[in-house]
Amino acid sequence: MPTPTPASAARALGCALNQIGWCIRCRTPCQRYGGGGNPLCKDCQREKTVVNGRKKSSAVS
Ligand SMILES: [Zn+2]
Repeated sequence: MPTPTPASAARALGCALNQIGWCIRCRTPCQRYGGGGNPLCKDCQREKTVVNGRKKSSAVS
């Protein structure tokens, strides 16, 4: 798997290059700054949501 560069991440995310930063969890380039920026990349955001969801619905299993 090729390592994403900030430039390719900016193009993929449709944001400016200066809004790109590294995910605090997995170090993947992601949109950290500006509107909609997040210190976590999309994968880690989703993972966090899943973990939170699992914790909330732990009574199911
Ligand atoms: Zn991440």
